[in-house]
Amino acid sequence: DMAMYQSKHDLSRRISFYEQAMERATLERFALAQDLGRALDLGQFTLHYQVQKSVASGDIVGYEALLRWNHPLQGSISPAVFIPIAEETGHILAIGEWVLRTACAEAATWDAPHKVAVNLSPVQVINADIPGLLRAVLVETGLSPKRLDLEITESTFIADKAKALRVLRQVKALGVSLSIDDFGVGYSSFDTLRSFPFDKIKIDGCFTRDADRSSEARAILRSVLALGRSLGIPVLAEGVETADQLARLRAEGCAEAQGYHLGKPMPMERARPIAMRAG
Ligand code: C2E
Ligand code: MG
Ligand code: MG
Ligand code: MG
Repeated sequence: DMAMYQSKHDLSRRISFYEQAMERATLERFALAQDLGRALDLGQFTLHYQVQKSVASGDIVGYEALLRWNHPLQGSISPAVFIPIAEETGHILAIGEWVLRTACAEAATWDAPHKVAVNLSPVQVINADIPGLLRAVLVETGLSPKRLDLEITESTFIADKAKALRVLRQVKALGVSLSIDDFGVGYSSFDTLRSFPFDKIKIDGCFTRDADRSSEARAILRSVLALGRSLGIPVLAEGVETADQLARLRAEGCAEAQGYHLGKPMPMERARPIAMRAG
């Protein structure tokens, strides 16, 4: 009858609406993946830099290079959105090579010999010849390997742990330092630290932020700082947004900090202190 017909009709309309939304998301992702393939040649990438400071002295320790994609129609697209697509499509290999080369070339022109930290995707570690690329880029740019810090996440060890460890040992042999990024939010954290002599632990920003209101976050922050001390590895706290958070980190003996309170990611021309630019 009519009521039956009506409800069936509604259901099929709802399904088709859902399917259309799915299809649209897939198409958007597909279009973005295609644009990503041309973005390098079209010069749509730039690097922003975010300062990393010593908590005790306030001295600049280094700058983390963060990739920015200026899409002609969509404007600035977050790396949180396009890095996963670049990893799925393999574009990350060429893009990551550009990031490494550009960050090292730019750092080589800085007036002060601060470190530059570059994020490496697990896909690069497993599928690219990272030691070979590093050797070439360090020679090309003249940057001292002591000034380069590579940030990797624990997910690097999931696909092929043996290969990852082999690559990272070769990287360290070049004199480049290695940091474990987003520590505490992945899994197998302790095993990762046991497996490889990292030079720095970057504790994820969520612990710094939540330490204000959550005793659990505070306890975890303290434990990671104690762990770093026992292992002899300095800890950098990410995501420091307020003076109170920085004061807490100082009281807890955290070595380094990074976050909006200390400096937002920005083009190097603006990230560089005035005094240094004058030189
Ligand atoms: P990440 O390496 O953990 O970088 C830190 C992220 O936190 C950056 O986001 C930074 O802008 C943001 N951040 C810094 N301070 C604060 C703060 O005080 N509060 C908050 N809420 N956020 C803060 P961004 O630039 O959007 O990058 C997101 C992620 O994308 C990075 O996380 C990294 O995993 C990835 N990424 C960025 N650039 C590259 C790259 O060149 N290569 C690869 N493979 N991944 C990259
Ligand atoms: Mg990072
Ligand atoms: Mg991080
Ligand atoms: Mg992150």
